[in-house]
Amino acid sequence: MRICGLEEQIHVIDDKVTVKEIIKDIVRTKEIFDPFYILDIGDLVHKARVWQQKLPRVKPFYAVKCNDNSLVLETLAAFGLNFDCASKAEIKKVLDLGVSPSRIIFANPAKMTSHIKYAMNQNVDLTTFDNELELYKIKSINPSCNLVIRIRCDAVETQCPLGIKYGCDPVTEAPVLLTLARDLDLSIVGVSFHVGSGCNEPVAFRRAIAAASDVFTFAEQLGFINMYLLNIGGGYPGNKDTCLDKIADIVNDALDEWFPASSGVTVMAEPGRYFAASAFTLATRIHSMKKRSTIDEHMMYFINDGVYGSFNSILYDHSIVVPKPLNDYPMGKTSPCSIWGPTCDGLDQVIDQVNLPRMKMGDWIIFEDMGAYTIPVASTFNGFPLPKVFAVANRGIWHKLKNLMPFSEDHFTTVPIVATIKMVRSESSDDDTWEENDVEYNTRH
Ligand code: PLP
Repeated sequence: MRICGLEEQIHVIDDKVTVKEIIKDIVRTKEIFDPFYILDIGDLVHKARVWQQKLPRVKPFYAVKCNDNSLVLETLAAFGLNFDCASKAEIKKVLDLGVSPSRIIFANPAKMTSHIKYAMNQNVDLTTFDNELELYKIKSINPSCNLVIRIRCDAVETQCPLGIKYGCDPVTEAPVLLTLARDLDLSIVGVSFHVGSGCNEPVAFRRAIAAASDVFTFAEQLGFINMYLLNIGGGYPGNKDTCLDKIADIVNDALDEWFPASSGVTVMAEPGRYFAASAFTLATRIHSMKKRSTIDEHMMYFINDGVYGSFNSILYDHSIVVPKPLNDYPMGKTSPCSIWGPTCDGLDQVIDQVNLPRMKMGDWIIFEDMGAYTIPVASTFNGFPLPKVFAVANRGIWHKLKNLMPFSEDHFTTVPIVATIKMVRSESSDDDTWEENDVEYNTRH
Protein backbone atom coordinates (compact mmCIF):
# COMPACT_ATOMS: atom_id res chain seq x y z
CA MET A 1 0.00 0.00 0.00
CA ARG A 2 1.14 3.49 -0.74
CA ILE A 3 -0.61 6.78 -0.39
CA CYS A 4 -0.06 8.66 -3.60
CA GLY A 5 -0.45 12.20 -2.56
CA LEU A 6 -2.86 14.65 -3.97
CA GLU A 7 -5.78 15.91 -1.98
CA GLU A 8 -9.31 15.72 -3.36
CA GLN A 9 -8.52 12.43 -4.98
CA ILE A 10 -9.37 8.96 -3.93
CA HIS A 11 -6.36 6.88 -3.07
CA VAL A 12 -6.78 3.25 -3.96
CA ILE A 13 -5.56 0.93 -1.23
CA ASP A 14 -5.21 -2.78 -0.73
CA ASP A 15 -8.24 -4.51 0.70
CA LYS A 16 -6.81 -5.52 4.05
CA VAL A 17 -5.25 -2.22 5.04
CA THR A 18 -6.62 -0.53 8.16
CA VAL A 19 -7.21 3.20 8.56
CA LYS A 20 -4.64 3.19 11.35
CA GLU A 21 -2.04 1.68 9.01
CA ILE A 22 -2.85 4.31 6.41
CA ILE A 23 -2.30 7.08 8.95
CA LYS A 24 0.99 5.51 10.03
CA ASP A 25 2.04 5.36 6.41
CA ILE A 26 1.19 9.02 5.84
CA VAL A 27 3.07 10.29 8.88
CA ARG A 28 6.04 8.08 8.04
CA THR A 29 6.35 8.92 4.36
CA LYS A 30 5.24 12.53 4.28
CA GLU A 31 6.60 15.59 6.00
CA ILE A 32 3.31 16.28 7.68
CA PHE A 33 2.82 18.24 10.88
CA ASP A 34 -0.74 19.49 10.51
CA PRO A 35 -3.83 17.50 11.48
CA PHE A 36 -5.51 15.51 8.74
CA TYR A 37 -8.48 13.25 8.11
CA ILE A 38 -8.78 9.89 6.47
CA LEU A 39 -12.08 9.63 4.64
CA ASP A 40 -12.94 5.98 4.12
CA ILE A 41 -15.12 5.94 1.01
CA GLY A 42 -15.88 2.26 1.62
CA ASP A 43 -17.49 3.16 4.90
CA LEU A 44 -19.94 5.47 3.09
CA VAL A 45 -20.79 2.77 0.60
CA HIS A 46 -21.19 0.21 3.37
CA LYS A 47 -23.60 2.54 5.18
CA ALA A 48 -25.66 2.97 2.02
CA ARG A 49 -25.93 -0.77 1.64
CA VAL A 50 -26.88 -1.33 5.29
CA TRP A 51 -29.53 1.37 5.03
CA GLN A 52 -31.00 -0.33 2.01
CA GLN A 53 -31.11 -3.66 3.84
CA LYS A 54 -32.55 -2.38 7.10
CA LEU A 55 -34.93 0.30 5.84
CA PRO A 56 -35.89 -0.94 2.38
CA ARG A 57 -38.92 1.33 2.06
CA VAL A 58 -37.17 4.51 3.16
CA LYS A 59 -35.32 6.60 0.56
CA PRO A 60 -32.35 8.39 2.10
CA PHE A 61 -31.86 12.09 1.33
CA TYR A 62 -28.40 12.80 2.80
CA ALA A 63 -28.40 15.94 5.01
CA VAL A 64 -25.66 18.00 3.37
CA LYS A 65 -25.20 20.21 6.44
CA CYS A 66 -23.70 17.28 8.33
CA ASN A 67 -20.59 17.15 6.16
CA ASP A 68 -20.46 18.78 2.74
CA ASN A 69 -17.11 17.34 1.70
CA SER A 70 -17.22 17.07 -2.10
CA LEU A 71 -16.13 13.46 -2.21
CA VAL A 72 -18.79 12.48 0.30
CA LEU A 73 -21.44 14.14 -1.85
CA GLU A 74 -20.05 12.71 -5.08
CA THR A 75 -19.84 9.20 -3.68
CA LEU A 76 -23.34 9.28 -2.26
CA ALA A 77 -24.64 10.79 -5.50
CA ALA A 78 -22.90 8.09 -7.50
CA PHE A 79 -24.59 5.46 -5.39
CA GLY A 80 -27.96 7.01 -6.07
CA LEU A 81 -28.69 8.86 -2.85
CA ASN A 82 -30.81 11.98 -2.80
CA PHE A 83 -30.08 15.16 -0.83
CA ASP A 84 -31.52 17.34 1.90
CA CYS A 85 -30.31 20.92 1.42
CA ALA A 86 -30.97 23.82 3.77
CA SER A 87 -29.72 26.78 1.73
CA LYS A 88 -28.99 28.14 -1.71
CA ALA A 89 -25.30 27.24 -1.41
CA GLU A 90 -26.04 23.65 -0.46
CA ILE A 91 -28.48 23.29 -3.34
CA LYS A 92 -25.90 24.72 -5.73
CA LYS A 93 -23.21 22.39 -4.47
CA VAL A 94 -25.37 19.34 -5.09
CA LEU A 95 -26.66 20.53 -8.48
CA ASP A 96 -23.09 21.25 -9.57
CA LEU A 97 -22.39 17.53 -9.23
CA GLY A 98 -24.92 16.92 -11.97
CA VAL A 99 -27.60 15.68 -9.60
CA SER A 100 -31.14 16.20 -10.86
CA PRO A 101 -33.21 18.81 -8.93
CA SER A 102 -35.83 16.10 -8.41
CA ARG A 103 -33.38 14.41 -6.05
CA ILE A 104 -33.28 17.40 -3.68
CA ILE A 105 -35.57 18.48 -0.85
CA PHE A 106 -35.15 22.05 0.39
CA ALA A 107 -35.69 21.01 4.01
CA ASN A 108 -35.57 24.33 5.79
CA PRO A 109 -38.94 25.40 7.23
CA ALA A 110 -37.86 29.08 7.44
CA LYS A 111 -36.24 30.05 4.16
CA MET A 112 -34.88 33.33 2.88
CA THR A 113 -36.77 34.83 -0.04
CA SER A 114 -33.73 34.84 -2.31
CA HIS A 115 -33.14 31.15 -1.56
CA ILE A 116 -36.74 30.27 -2.41
CA LYS A 117 -36.32 32.10 -5.73
CA TYR A 118 -33.05 30.32 -6.43
CA ALA A 119 -34.57 26.90 -5.69
CA MET A 120 -37.52 27.68 -7.94
CA ASN A 121 -35.28 28.76 -10.81
CA GLN A 122 -33.31 25.54 -10.43
CA ASN A 123 -36.51 23.43 -10.45
CA VAL A 124 -36.10 22.28 -6.88
CA ASP A 125 -39.79 22.12 -6.09
CA LEU A 126 -40.09 20.23 -2.81
CA THR A 127 -39.79 22.08 0.49
CA THR A 128 -40.88 22.06 4.12
CA PHE A 129 -42.73 24.65 6.20
CA ASP A 130 -44.03 24.96 9.77
CA ASN A 131 -45.56 28.45 10.03
CA GLU A 132 -48.06 30.79 8.43
CA LEU A 133 -45.63 33.44 7.17
CA GLU A 134 -43.68 30.82 5.29
CA LEU A 135 -46.88 29.86 3.46
CA TYR A 136 -47.50 33.48 2.44
CA LYS A 137 -43.87 33.80 1.36
CA ILE A 138 -44.08 30.68 -0.78
CA LYS A 139 -47.43 31.76 -2.20
CA SER A 140 -45.93 35.04 -3.40
CA ILE A 141 -42.78 33.52 -4.90
CA ASN A 142 -43.42 29.95 -5.99
CA PRO A 143 -47.12 29.10 -5.54
CA SER A 144 -46.90 25.77 -7.34
CA CYS A 145 -44.13 24.40 -5.10
CA ASN A 146 -44.81 21.03 -3.45
CA LEU A 147 -45.03 21.50 0.30
CA VAL A 148 -44.37 19.19 3.23
CA ILE A 149 -45.66 20.25 6.63
CA ARG A 150 -43.10 19.72 9.40
CA ILE A 151 -44.62 18.62 12.67
CA ARG A 152 -42.92 18.57 16.02
CA CYS A 153 -42.36 15.25 17.73
CA ASP A 154 -39.31 15.22 19.97
CA ALA A 155 -37.45 12.23 21.30
CA VAL A 156 -37.00 12.53 25.05
CA GLU A 157 -33.26 11.94 24.78
CA THR A 158 -31.23 13.43 21.93
CA GLN A 159 -27.72 14.69 21.35
CA CYS A 160 -29.12 17.86 19.73
CA PRO A 161 -32.82 18.66 20.11
CA LEU A 162 -34.41 20.45 17.14
CA GLY A 163 -38.02 20.76 18.26
CA ILE A 164 -37.34 23.95 20.20
CA LYS A 165 -36.82 25.66 16.83
CA TYR A 166 -38.77 23.78 14.17
CA GLY A 167 -41.97 21.85 13.75
CA CYS A 168 -45.59 22.79 14.41
CA ASP A 169 -47.74 21.05 16.97
CA PRO A 170 -49.48 18.22 15.08
CA VAL A 171 -52.76 18.62 16.98
CA THR A 172 -53.20 22.34 17.61
CA GLU A 173 -51.18 24.02 14.83
CA ALA A 174 -51.06 21.66 11.86
CA PRO A 175 -54.83 21.85 11.17
CA VAL A 176 -54.68 25.67 11.15
CA LEU A 177 -51.71 25.70 8.78
CA LEU A 178 -53.23 23.13 6.45
CA THR A 179 -56.49 25.07 6.31
CA LEU A 180 -54.57 28.23 5.42
CA ALA A 181 -52.63 26.34 2.74
CA ARG A 182 -55.91 25.18 1.23
CA ASP A 183 -57.31 28.72 1.28
CA LEU A 184 -54.14 29.94 -0.44
CA ASP A 185 -54.53 27.18 -3.02
CA LEU A 186 -51.11 25.74 -2.24
CA SER A 187 -50.04 22.18 -2.91
CA ILE A 188 -49.50 20.06 0.20
CA VAL A 189 -47.93 16.70 -0.63
CA GLY A 190 -46.72 15.30 2.68
CA VAL A 191 -45.72 15.40 6.31
CA SER A 192 -42.23 15.51 7.84
CA PHE A 193 -40.67 15.45 11.28
CA HIS A 194 -37.25 15.28 12.91
CA VAL A 195 -37.17 13.63 16.32
CA GLY A 196 -33.81 15.25 17.13
CA SER A 197 -30.25 14.65 16.01
CA GLY A 198 -28.52 11.73 17.71
CA CYS A 199 -31.79 10.19 18.87
CA ASN A 200 -31.44 8.03 21.97
CA GLU A 201 -35.09 7.11 22.18
CA PRO A 202 -35.91 4.97 19.13
CA VAL A 203 -39.58 4.65 20.04
CA ALA A 204 -39.93 8.39 19.32
CA PHE A 205 -40.08 7.39 15.64
CA ARG A 206 -43.20 5.35 16.36
CA ARG A 207 -44.90 8.29 18.10
CA ALA A 208 -43.95 10.61 15.26
CA ILE A 209 -45.15 8.27 12.50
CA ALA A 210 -48.47 7.85 14.30
CA ALA A 211 -48.82 11.64 14.63
CA ALA A 212 -47.92 12.09 10.96
CA SER A 213 -50.65 9.61 10.03
CA ASP A 214 -53.27 11.76 11.80
CA VAL A 215 -52.02 14.86 9.96
CA PHE A 216 -52.20 12.93 6.67
CA THR A 217 -55.82 12.03 7.36
CA PHE A 218 -56.72 15.61 8.23
CA ALA A 219 -55.04 16.93 5.07
CA GLU A 220 -56.85 14.41 2.89
CA GLN A 221 -60.16 15.33 4.50
CA LEU A 222 -59.43 18.99 3.71
CA GLY A 223 -59.18 18.03 0.07
CA PHE A 224 -55.46 17.63 -0.56
CA ILE A 225 -55.57 14.73 -3.00
CA ASN A 226 -51.83 14.41 -3.67
CA MET A 227 -50.59 13.40 -0.21
CA TYR A 228 -47.86 11.01 -1.29
CA LEU A 229 -44.83 11.73 0.94
CA LEU A 230 -43.84 10.86 4.50
CA ASN A 231 -40.48 12.31 5.53
CA ILE A 232 -39.12 10.72 8.73
CA GLY A 233 -36.19 13.14 9.05
CA GLY A 234 -32.80 12.44 10.64
CA GLY A 235 -31.61 11.26 14.03
CA TYR A 236 -29.96 7.92 13.20
CA PRO A 237 -26.67 6.98 14.91
CA GLY A 238 -23.49 6.90 12.84
CA ASN A 239 -20.55 5.94 15.04
CA LYS A 240 -18.68 2.68 14.51
CA ASP A 241 -20.03 1.05 17.66
CA THR A 242 -23.66 1.93 16.96
CA CYS A 243 -26.22 0.19 14.83
CA LEU A 244 -29.39 1.00 12.98
CA ASP A 245 -31.31 -2.13 14.00
CA LYS A 246 -33.41 -0.81 16.86
CA ILE A 247 -34.63 2.28 15.03
CA ALA A 248 -35.12 0.29 11.82
CA ASP A 249 -37.30 -2.30 13.55
CA ILE A 250 -39.45 0.39 15.12
CA VAL A 251 -39.74 2.41 11.90
CA ASN A 252 -40.57 -0.64 9.77
CA ASP A 253 -43.26 -1.80 12.20
CA ALA A 254 -44.77 1.68 12.45
CA LEU A 255 -44.77 2.07 8.67
CA ASP A 256 -46.55 -1.27 8.31
CA GLU A 257 -49.13 -0.09 10.78
CA TRP A 258 -49.82 3.46 9.60
CA PHE A 259 -48.33 3.68 6.10
CA PRO A 260 -48.34 0.15 4.65
CA ALA A 261 -46.88 -0.33 1.19
CA SER A 262 -50.43 -0.61 -0.12
CA SER A 263 -51.03 3.04 0.90
CA GLY A 264 -48.80 4.07 -1.99
CA VAL A 265 -47.07 6.65 0.23
CA THR A 266 -43.40 7.27 -0.56
CA VAL A 267 -41.26 7.28 2.57
CA MET A 268 -38.05 9.29 2.75
CA ALA A 269 -35.56 10.25 5.49
CA GLU A 270 -32.83 12.85 5.95
CA PRO A 271 -29.93 10.99 7.58
CA GLY A 272 -26.81 13.05 8.24
CA ARG A 273 -24.56 11.61 10.93
CA TYR A 274 -25.57 8.06 10.00
CA PHE A 275 -23.58 8.39 6.78
CA ALA A 276 -20.82 10.81 7.73
CA ALA A 277 -19.72 10.02 11.29
CA SER A 278 -17.69 6.83 11.00
CA ALA A 279 -16.25 7.58 7.55
CA PHE A 280 -13.83 10.15 8.97
CA THR A 281 -10.87 9.50 11.28
CA LEU A 282 -8.88 12.50 12.50
CA ALA A 283 -5.13 12.33 13.08
CA THR A 284 -3.64 14.96 15.40
CA ARG A 285 -0.08 15.54 16.55
CA ILE A 286 1.29 16.56 19.93
CA HIS A 287 3.29 19.74 19.42
CA SER A 288 3.70 20.80 23.06
CA MET A 289 3.27 19.32 26.51
CA LYS A 290 3.75 20.21 30.15
CA LYS A 291 3.01 18.97 33.65
CA ARG A 292 -0.13 20.49 35.13
CA SER A 293 1.56 21.08 38.47
CA THR A 294 4.56 20.00 40.45
CA ILE A 295 2.46 17.95 42.84
CA ASP A 296 0.83 15.43 40.52
CA GLU A 297 1.65 13.38 37.43
CA HIS A 298 -1.11 14.88 35.26
CA MET A 299 0.27 15.78 31.82
CA MET A 300 -1.24 18.42 29.54
CA TYR A 301 -0.86 17.50 25.86
CA PHE A 302 -1.30 20.21 23.23
CA ILE A 303 -2.46 18.94 19.84
CA ASN A 304 -2.80 20.76 16.51
CA ASP A 305 -6.61 20.71 16.29
CA GLY A 306 -9.05 21.96 18.90
CA VAL A 307 -12.53 23.20 19.70
CA TYR A 308 -12.22 26.07 17.23
CA GLY A 309 -11.44 23.47 14.55
CA SER A 310 -12.75 19.92 14.25
CA PHE A 311 -13.57 19.59 17.94
CA ASN A 312 -16.17 22.35 17.71
CA SER A 313 -18.45 19.30 17.69
CA ILE A 314 -17.84 19.00 21.43
CA LEU A 315 -19.49 22.38 21.94
CA TYR A 316 -22.12 22.43 19.20
CA ASP A 317 -22.90 18.77 18.65
CA HIS A 318 -22.32 17.63 22.25
CA SER A 319 -20.10 14.90 20.91
CA ILE A 320 -17.87 12.73 23.05
CA VAL A 321 -14.48 12.15 21.48
CA VAL A 322 -12.16 9.27 22.30
CA PRO A 323 -8.37 9.68 21.91
CA LYS A 324 -6.35 6.70 20.69
CA PRO A 325 -2.56 6.87 20.47
CA LEU A 326 -1.43 6.02 16.96
CA ASN A 327 1.54 3.99 18.06
CA ASP A 328 1.55 0.94 20.27
CA TYR A 329 2.86 1.55 23.77
CA PRO A 330 3.80 -1.02 26.43
CA MET A 331 0.60 -2.57 27.78
CA GLY A 332 -0.92 -1.41 31.01
CA LYS A 333 1.16 1.64 31.81
CA THR A 334 -1.01 4.75 31.58
CA SER A 335 -1.17 8.03 33.44
CA PRO A 336 -3.71 10.83 33.81
CA CYS A 337 -3.67 13.63 31.28
CA SER A 338 -5.74 16.26 29.51
CA ILE A 339 -5.74 17.21 25.83
CA TRP A 340 -5.81 20.79 24.61
CA GLY A 341 -6.22 22.51 21.24
CA PRO A 342 -3.65 24.85 19.68
CA THR A 343 -5.32 28.26 20.15
CA CYS A 344 -4.48 30.67 22.95
CA ASP A 345 -7.91 30.28 24.51
CA GLY A 346 -8.54 28.51 27.80
CA LEU A 347 -11.81 27.19 26.39
CA ASP A 348 -9.84 25.21 23.84
CA GLN A 349 -9.81 21.96 25.78
CA VAL A 350 -10.53 18.73 23.93
CA ILE A 351 -10.55 16.32 26.89
CA ASP A 352 -10.30 17.29 30.54
CA GLN A 353 -9.32 13.97 32.05
CA VAL A 354 -8.23 10.69 30.49
CA ASN A 355 -5.62 8.01 31.09
CA LEU A 356 -3.16 7.50 28.26
CA PRO A 357 0.28 5.95 27.92
CA ARG A 358 3.05 8.49 28.54
CA MET A 359 3.42 10.20 25.17
CA LYS A 360 6.22 12.18 23.55
CA MET A 361 6.45 15.36 21.52
CA GLY A 362 5.58 14.59 17.91
CA ASP A 363 3.44 11.58 18.78
CA TRP A 364 0.11 11.26 16.99
CA ILE A 365 -3.33 10.76 18.56
CA ILE A 366 -6.23 9.62 16.42
CA PHE A 367 -9.97 10.17 16.90
CA GLU A 368 -12.50 7.94 15.14
CA ASP A 369 -16.08 8.87 14.23
CA MET A 370 -15.21 12.48 13.42
CA GLY A 371 -17.29 12.94 10.26
CA ALA A 372 -20.49 14.48 11.61
CA TYR A 373 -20.84 18.21 12.20
CA THR A 374 -17.09 18.78 12.44
CA ILE A 375 -15.38 20.19 9.32
CA PRO A 376 -18.25 22.35 7.99
CA VAL A 377 -18.46 24.19 11.30
CA ALA A 378 -14.73 24.50 11.97
CA SER A 379 -12.87 27.84 11.85
CA THR A 380 -9.25 28.84 11.36
CA PHE A 381 -9.30 30.99 14.51
CA ASN A 382 -5.85 32.07 15.66
CA GLY A 383 -4.40 31.08 12.28
CA PHE A 384 -4.58 27.33 12.62
CA PRO A 385 -5.47 25.61 9.34
CA LEU A 386 -8.33 23.20 8.87
CA PRO A 387 -7.25 19.56 8.51
CA LYS A 388 -6.74 18.20 5.02
CA VAL A 389 -8.76 15.20 3.93
CA PHE A 390 -7.15 12.12 2.39
CA ALA A 391 -9.83 9.93 0.84
CA VAL A 392 -9.17 6.20 0.47
CA ALA A 393 -11.04 3.33 -1.15
CA ASN A 394 -10.16 -0.27 -1.76
CA ARG A 395 -10.10 -1.72 -5.25
CA GLY A 396 -13.61 -3.12 -5.13
CA ILE A 397 -15.06 0.24 -4.19
CA TRP A 398 -12.98 2.03 -6.78
CA HIS A 399 -14.13 -0.36 -9.42
CA LYS A 400 -17.75 0.21 -8.44
CA LEU A 401 -17.35 3.97 -8.39
CA LYS A 402 -15.77 3.87 -11.80
CA ASN A 403 -18.88 2.28 -13.16
CA LEU A 404 -21.15 4.50 -11.05
CA MET A 405 -23.70 1.79 -10.72
CA PRO A 406 -26.63 2.56 -8.47
CA PHE A 407 -27.00 -0.71 -6.61
CA SER A 408 -30.76 -0.91 -6.60
CA GLU A 409 -32.94 0.56 -9.25
CA ASP A 410 -36.11 0.72 -7.27
CA HIS A 411 -34.66 1.85 -3.94
CA PHE A 412 -32.42 4.65 -5.07
CA THR A 413 -33.17 6.89 -7.96
CA THR A 414 -31.33 5.87 -11.10
CA VAL A 415 -30.88 9.24 -12.74
CA PRO A 416 -27.26 9.22 -13.91
CA ILE A 417 -24.91 11.83 -12.53
CA VAL A 418 -21.88 13.51 -13.99
CA ALA A 419 -18.90 11.87 -12.37
CA THR A 420 -16.04 14.12 -11.46
CA ILE A 421 -14.25 11.82 -9.08
CA LYS A 422 -10.58 11.54 -9.91
CA MET A 423 -8.98 8.22 -9.22
CA VAL A 424 -5.41 7.53 -8.30
CA ARG A 425 -4.07 4.04 -8.49
CA SER A 426 -1.66 2.58 -5.98
CA GLU A 427 1.70 1.66 -7.40
CA SER A 428 1.19 -1.99 -6.72
CA SER A 429 -1.92 -2.19 -8.86
CA ASP A 430 -1.31 -3.18 -12.43
CA ASP A 431 -4.26 -2.46 -14.67
CA ASP A 432 -7.99 -2.16 -14.93
CA THR A 433 -8.66 -5.86 -14.96
CA TRP A 434 -9.54 -6.14 -11.29
CA GLU A 435 -12.41 -8.45 -10.73
CA GLU A 436 -15.59 -7.11 -9.34
CA ASN A 437 -15.45 -9.44 -6.39
CA ASP A 438 -18.33 -9.20 -3.99
CA VAL A 439 -17.31 -5.80 -2.82
CA GLU A 440 -15.58 -5.61 0.54
CA TYR A 441 -17.01 -2.35 1.58
CA ASN A 442 -14.74 -1.53 4.46
CA THR A 443 -11.11 -1.33 5.02
CA ARG A 444 -10.54 -3.33 8.19
CA HIS A 445 -10.73 -1.33 11.42
N1 PLP B 1 -32.80 17.16 8.46
C1 PLP B 1 -32.85 18.36 9.07
C2 PLP B 1 -33.94 19.29 8.69
C3 PLP B 1 -31.91 18.72 10.04
O1 PLP B 1 -31.97 19.92 10.65
C4 PLP B 1 -30.88 17.79 10.37
C5 PLP B 1 -29.87 18.10 11.38
O2 PLP B 1 -29.85 19.11 12.02
C6 PLP B 1 -30.84 16.57 9.67
C7 PLP B 1 -31.81 16.28 8.75
C8 PLP B 1 -29.77 15.54 9.93
O3 PLP B 1 -29.93 14.98 11.17
P1 PLP B 1 -29.01 13.78 11.64
O4 PLP B 1 -27.59 14.15 11.39
O5 PLP B 1 -29.31 13.62 13.08
O6 PLP B 1 -29.41 12.58 10.88
